[in-house]
Amino acid sequence: MATKCSQIYKMRDLIEVESKREQIMSTSLFSDASSRLEKALKYVSISEDAIERLKYPKISLSVSIPLRMDDGSLRIFQGYRVRYDDTRGPGKGGIRYHPNVTIDEVQSLAFWMTFKCALLDLPFGGAKGGITVNPKELSRQELERLSRGYIEAIADFIGPDVDIPAPDVYTNEMIMGWMMDQYSIIQRKSSPGVVTGKPVTMGGSQGRDTATGTGAFYVINSLLPKFGKSPANTTVAVQGFGNAGSVVADLLFKAGYKVVAVSDSVGGVYAKDGLDIPSIRRYKSEHKQIAAIYCADSVCNIVEHENITNEDLLALDVDVLIPAALENQINFQNADSIKAKYIFEVANGPVTSEADRILNKKGIYVFPDILVNAGGVTVSYFEWVQNRSGLYWRLTEVNERLKERMVGEAERVWAISQEFAVDLRTAAYIHGLNRLGEALDAKGTRDYYVNGKIH
Ligand code: NAD
Repeated sequence: MATKCSQIYKMRDLIEVESKREQIMSTSLFSDASSRLEKALKYVSISEDAIERLKYPKISLSVSIPLRMDDGSLRIFQGYRVRYDDTRGPGKGGIRYHPNVTIDEVQSLAFWMTFKCALLDLPFGGAKGGITVNPKELSRQELERLSRGYIEAIADFIGPDVDIPAPDVYTNEMIMGWMMDQYSIIQRKSSPGVVTGKPVTMGGSQGRDTATGTGAFYVINSLLPKFGKSPANTTVAVQGFGNAGSVVADLLFKAGYKVVAVSDSVGGVYAKDGLDIPSIRRYKSEHKQIAAIYCADSVCNIVEHENITNEDLLALDVDVLIPAALENQINFQNADSIKAKYIFEVANGPVTSEADRILNKKGIYVFPDILVNAGGVTVSYFEWVQNRSGLYWRLTEVNERLKERMVGEAERVWAISQEFAVDLRTAAYIHGLNRLGEALDAKGTRDYYVNGKIH
């Protein structure tokens, strides 16, 4: 039965992951993220004013959150919220709890959200938030007080018409419920539209919890046939077995794809003939109650399969590689070792721009995050619409609408990449930039001036 990974193995893997992350994070994530725009600019005809505007975040907020710990002591945590751009509508973006959260990371994530919302034609701008914390070290009560404290600190900065948070790494629907409740207490009225990804009983949408993985599945399943790939002849590896990664792995498994490897922060498992994904999901959810709301156990503790490290997983000889954990996982140090032919970015920013260049040269197709993982924000939009109308949709209706948007925009990105003979990431930015540029120009003042004079 189950072979337990040794503690030594776990520690070594964790230390390796963290030290690699530190090396890579020394170059600014934001400058890497925004460099992606440069390539796309050649193919769009938007004004210089609009381009200049898009180089900077509109508002960045940094807050200290005091937290009374269960033992009576006081700790202060650092929190952030960045609204990158709100030309197309209120800011939209998740809240991340992670020890590595920095303003640079939050700003980069808000930048990606701006393009993602434009790409999917959602009436939102881009935003993101986070707290620098290891939430697994907190009790459930401490986690709740921290989440409510964060909302206290940023309450003037968010709202259903201003900026609407959602879940991201290590935040979930329970935390969104606390946040919505705290905001409603401050406002002295029920404000379900302030946060999305809430429990269904508090105004959440059917299908929001699985939306990111489901949306990614629709994109993968609609684009792979263009390369002559069918489920039966496609092997898949998934890095990150959380909310997004476990759902896409499960749907691919159920559609007949062979998912041969999955991993989490501790390590991974590999089986040449394919893993039984539903049983791995069951195992993870059964071990959730320990350490507040997080799964204290790892996929590598489960199974009779071979244990592999995250580095091994990324270098597997599979058809499809799905990074679904954190940013910067495929970088200049390991891009050469990648053997997969198609990479679908379910995480935000898992491939650095240097790695992109190496992968392009190797003929590997990279399907970008701002398209592939946009299912989450799309169903967040549906949730916000339902909160404002008071009319709630069935799961089948949510998924039909999600599929229509994801497949439709994936086809448009594919068509742009063919038309301009550019990689898929550049195509996705061209598509988003065109929509954003039109909105920025429609708002702008440039046309009132001729040669520096008002006319
Ligand atoms: P999650 O917290 O549910 O899961 C994250 C998973 O990644 C966990 O299994 C964790 O163990 C694993 N992990 C962490 N560090 C790792 C490492 N170094 N190597 C391998 N695995 C590691 O988070 P999530 O919501 O699934 O988010 C994952 C990614 O998807 C993030 O980049 C997030 O921004 C992106 N994303 C999430 C959503 C959403 O709706 N949840 C939407 C869009 C994008």
